[in-house]
Amino acid sequence: MTPTPGRSPLAGDAVALMHDGRSHQEHRPPAGSYVSTRGGRAAVPISAAIAAGLAPDGGLYVPEVLPSVDPGAFGPHGSLAATAATLLAPFFAGDPLADELAAICAEAFTFDAPLRALPAHPHTLMLELFHGPTSAFKDFGARFLAACLRRLPRADTRPLTILVATSGDTGAAVAAAFHRQPNLRVVILYPDGLVSPRQAHQLGCFGDNVQALRVAGRFDDCQRMLKAALNYAALQAQVPMSSANSISLGRLLPQMSYYAHAALNWRREHGTPLNFIVPTGNLGNAMVCLWVREMGLPIGEVRLACNANATLPDYFAGADYTPRAAVATVANAMHELDRLRGSGDAQPWVVVTTAHPAKFETVLEDLLGHAIGIPPALAAMLERPTKSAAMAADDGVFKHWLRECAAAGPTSTA
Ligand SMILES: *Cc1c(COP(=O)(O)O)cnc(C)c1O
Repeated sequence: MTPTPGRSPLAGDAVALMHDGRSHQEHRPPAGSYVSTRGGRAAVPISAAIAAGLAPDGGLYVPEVLPSVDPGAFGPHGSLAATAATLLAPFFAGDPLADELAAICAEAFTFDAPLRALPAHPHTLMLELFHGPTSAFKDFGARFLAACLRRLPRADTRPLTILVATSGDTGAAVAAAFHRQPNLRVVILYPDGLVSPRQAHQLGCFGDNVQALRVAGRFDDCQRMLKAALNYAALQAQVPMSSANSISLGRLLPQMSYYAHAALNWRREHGTPLNFIVPTGNLGNAMVCLWVREMGLPIGEVRLACNANATLPDYFAGADYTPRAAVATVANAMHELDRLRGSGDAQPWVVVTTAHPAKFETVLEDLLGHAIGIPPALAAMLERPTKSAAMAADDGVFKHWLRECAAAGPTSTA
């Protein structure tokens, strides 16, 4: 169910990675080395990469080598949290967070990612990723990131401001994960009028240490404003800032867990690898599905469902990578499955369900012709009052606002 999230320039980095493949055969630097997709700078340990959000050169931190994992290492009836802890252990080897990993996973994965057969459609399953507090898969990454950051010591005693530009789901997940965390503040930028009404309500319903700004512009303006603020050293000196962008290492790693969990369970019962159709925006969710396969887990074909926002298909077809303004669309993965079935394909496919349909009821209820039930956590959020502040799509105005806000006190949202 996706009004398509806008794509950041980072999607270009994810694309380049998927194209090259990450070979874990060729050479093996020590585990725990993370490098930017954009340059040859020194590798950093995983906790530094997670804390930074983005690499200093604007790239995405990725593991220098993907570890291999033995499918036999996973217990037969483990929870999602247990699968996550086993899968992610090699990434954290030697890091101060390694001893905390099981606790981090248990804290982040308090809800399941069930695989359900679709009754009227033989061999079609849904991987439901919307059982978290904000009803979208972004909860997995945001909660894991929060659980890591909570445990990482900071030398600076001033509050850390986490900036997030969102086309809907990321902002709410980050807000929910960091809400009322001591010494942390979340500032959400979203394009006014370009997220669904329920998404907008969700973004503004937290209050306390979370401030939602509705920007008179597009998602790309929000991204640009965020980067301008983060990269402005003079402002960083006054207002310590980090970002929780839609693809960062601390969010990508935990997303691997639900693919691994579903594929391992499936192979135990059916003896075959599992095929996935993944709706894609910035490509993070699809990329980690390929990482899990490359690590040696039983994943078969992976199809990227893209919609009218054809930047990525065009790139794969040989065009230059040119980000463009996003247009809104609906449920691209179901769009892809119909095409496969129409061409006579009868193998089992898992459609990755990235958000609960109730988040987009204004579009979907018309299409379906009936009302969509609302999950309890979402219903509770929709009952809370909501508040956002208007913001011009202007880097200078935003920087000024951040400075004023920091001067006004740790959790002030005035
Ligand atoms: C974020 C999001 C996507 C896109 O995920 P990427 O990791 O950016 O490819 C798709 N659908 C929904 C509902 C989302 O919230």
